[in-house]
Amino acid sequence: MTNIDKVTILGTGVMGSQIAFQIAYSGFDVSAYDINEEILEQARKKFAHLAAVYEKEVPNANSDKTAKAIARISLSSNLADAVADADIVIEAVPEVLEIKRDIYEKLAKVAPAKTILATNSSTLLPSDMKDFTGRPDRFLAMHFANMIWKLNTAEIMGTPDTDPAVFDTVVAFASQIGMVPIPIHKEKAGYVLNSLLVPWLNAAADLAAGGYAEPEDVDKVWHIATGAPLGPFQIYDIIGLKTPYNILSHGDAHEQKLAAWLKENYIDKGKLGISTGAGFYTYPKQV
Ligand code: NAD
Repeated sequence: MTNIDKVTILGTGVMGSQIAFQIAYSGFDVSAYDINEEILEQARKKFAHLAAVYEKEVPNANSDKTAKAIARISLSSNLADAVADADIVIEAVPEVLEIKRDIYEKLAKVAPAKTILATNSSTLLPSDMKDFTGRPDRFLAMHFANMIWKLNTAEIMGTPDTDPAVFDTVVAFASQIGMVPIPIHKEKAGYVLNSLLVPWLNAAADLAAGGYAEPEDVDKVWHIATGAPLGPFQIYDIIGLKTPYNILSHGDAHEQKLAAWLKENYIDKGKLGISTGAGFYTYPKQV
C-alpha cells in the first residue's frame, strides 16, 4: 500500500490519456491537465474511445467499470487547480526539453510540498529536469509503454537525489495501478525498453528512407524471420510518428535526415499513426 490517493496527469495526448484512464480504472481520483479547453474536449473523446477498448480487450472489463473510471477523471486547463491536492503528478507533455522545463518551473510554484513528481519521458534523463522541479528528492521517472492496458510495464528510474522512500512508493504505486514495475538501478537514457527499441526503429527508418526496402517489406522480414508479432513500422504507427520525429530531429546529421523523411512523407500529410487513421499503414478512424 502507498499513501497515494489523488493523481494528476499533465498532458492528455497519446500517453497522458492512457495513463489517466488506467489509473482511474484502478480506482484512483485523477485530474487531467492540458493547455486549453479544445484539447480537453479531445481528451473526453479519447477517454470514451479507451472505455470501448477496455471493454473489448481487458479481462473482466464492462461498461459499468469504464463509466466509473470516466467519472473519476476531472479535466482542467488550470495548472494550480489540477495539482491542488495531488499526491503524485505524472507528466506526459511533449518530448521537448524546453516544454518540460516550462511546465516543471510552473509546477514547482503550485504543487503542494507533499506531491511526488514523475516524468514519463522516453529519452530524457530525470537528471536533465530535476533542477526545474524545486524538489529533486521527490522527482523521478515513471515510464509507461503505449497501450498501457496490455503492455503494462512501468520502468521506475530515479536520480542520485531521489529519496529512496519516494522511489519505493512509486514502485508500489505502479503495482496498485496494474503495472509490472521495473526498477532501474541507475540512470540510463532510454531505460531498458528504449535502449532496445530506438536503435531498432532508427535502423528500420534508415532502410526505408535510404531506398533499400519498402516499410511493409521491412516489417515482413522481421515477422517471418524472427517470429515477432509486430514489425518496426507497425510499432511506429502505435507510438505515433511525432515522438520519434522529435527524438530524431535532436540527433546527429544522419538522424536529422531521417526526421526530415518522416516529416515530409508522413507527418506533413497528416499520417501520424493509428490515432489519425493513417501512418505507414491505414486504420479505422479514431478520435
Ligand atoms: P503527445 O504529443 O501525444 O501529447 C502531449 C500532450 O501534452 C498534448 O495533449 C499536448 O496538448 C500537451 N501539452 C503540450 N504542451 C503542454 C504543456 N506546456 N503543458 C501541458 N500539456 C502540454 O505526446 P505523447 O506521445 O503522449 O508523449 C508524451 C510523453 O510521453 C513524452 O515525454 C514521450 O517521450 C513519452 N512517451 C511516449 C510514448 C509513446 O508511445 N507515444 C511512450 C512512452 C513515453
